[in-house]
Amino acid sequence: MPITKVHARSVYDSRGNPTVEVDIVTETGLHRAIVPSGASTGQHEAVELRDGDKTRWGGKGVLKAVKNVNETIGPALIKENIDVKDQSKVDEFLNKLDGTANKGNLGANAILGVSLAVAKAGAAEKGVPLYAHISDLAGTKKPYVLPVPFQNVLNGGSHAGGRLAFQEFMIVPDSAPSFSEGLRQGAEVYQKLKSLAKKKYGQSAGNVGDEGGVAPDIQTAEEALDLIAAAIEEAGYTGKMHIAMDVASSEFYKTDAKKYDLDFKNPDSDPAKWLTYEQLADLYKSLASKYPIVSIEDPFAEDDWEAWSYFYKTSDFQIVGDDLTVTNPLRIKKAIELKSCNALLLKVNQIGTLTESIQAAKDSYADNWGVMVSHRSGETEDVTIADIAVGLRAGQIKTGAPARSERLAKLNQILRIEEELGDKAIYAGEKFRTAVNL
Ligand code: PEP
Ligand code: MG
Repeated sequence: MPITKVHARSVYDSRGNPTVEVDIVTETGLHRAIVPSGASTGQHEAVELRDGDKTRWGGKGVLKAVKNVNETIGPALIKENIDVKDQSKVDEFLNKLDGTANKGNLGANAILGVSLAVAKAGAAEKGVPLYAHISDLAGTKKPYVLPVPFQNVLNGGSHAGGRLAFQEFMIVPDSAPSFSEGLRQGAEVYQKLKSLAKKKYGQSAGNVGDEGGVAPDIQTAEEALDLIAAAIEEAGYTGKMHIAMDVASSEFYKTDAKKYDLDFKNPDSDPAKWLTYEQLADLYKSLASKYPIVSIEDPFAEDDWEAWSYFYKTSDFQIVGDDLTVTNPLRIKKAIELKSCNALLLKVNQIGTLTESIQAAKDSYADNWGVMVSHRSGETEDVTIADIAVGLRAGQIKTGAPARSERLAKLNQILRIEEELGDKAIYAGEKFRTAVNL
């Protein structure tokens, strides 16, 4: 079935910034994708093309990317007449058209919007759900695996206004019997956490950060973890739930000093208090001995490879690369060689096509890594990552708190998939790190 129309427009993400939406029309109808956007963006991510015109949207407009879809990619794709079911051929064509390694010519946001909309058109042509089409493309086995929802209930770092340096504190309902039960447990803990935060830190502590988690003005990871442990206790899940963190430490790495500044939001931060990577590693170890932590993301900065290898040798929990690996097969290869981490955070807009995202997951699985499919802090109503998590058998998804519709849209989509699949799906549960082999 040929593509008869490709049309992009500028819409808004959850932070109120412009982003690219792409419509693709085939005989099966209209297929639409919206591109997300990060705040704690890795330096090595594919290029998110922004207009840079400070008089409109503070420079954050995406009119150039939209124009690239409407005037360059769309006409070329229609002319090439590639089968929309042949995702790798479409994505290869998009990459060639761009002609750069980092999609800096047309913009990864322009390219990703087209790539994901084509995937939806491909699924429609086959008459199957998107997760089933992705499962075919990736060659994953059956039954389907529903991911553990890592729920970011407390926001800090560059996603919140307070002083807390670490970006995300997630609850991990990995001993729940099913996805929906895991989500229920998370939703219950979240409500307890909100009440506790207000009680302890005042009404404004119930305000939320970019990903829907509470954002009390606390300074230390211990305070955050104590609050979460208390909420888990009140909800009755002590011993039945784990905790994960995304430190997003590239945000507070002082490159010249080679140190980590846990007071990075304070312009008068005292350099004498900045930590070496060994000291930061000790802090993680002491936190992990006190709280049920099973996963730490970006414990060190995106190019502090030495620190990652040092930490990897002595830790048995999951160490997730995000800014380090940027869903890029070349960076993943390096991380495998240097033994830097043992799990991939998979963000489609870091690399810019579905095919390359699938490849990133497969490369990670091949070295026995875990894979966590992830949203961005700037999100939309697009739920594609839910289908990707199921189609790839990733076993883990992080898509914020069980609050705010751009976050819950993905979790609600997995509820629908769970209902649709019934006993044709299993919950990753405690095996979330090796779900692909279940
Ligand atoms: C993250 O760092 O994992 C994240 C989701 O944040 P952002 O989208 O801001 O990079
Ligand atoms: Mg991260």
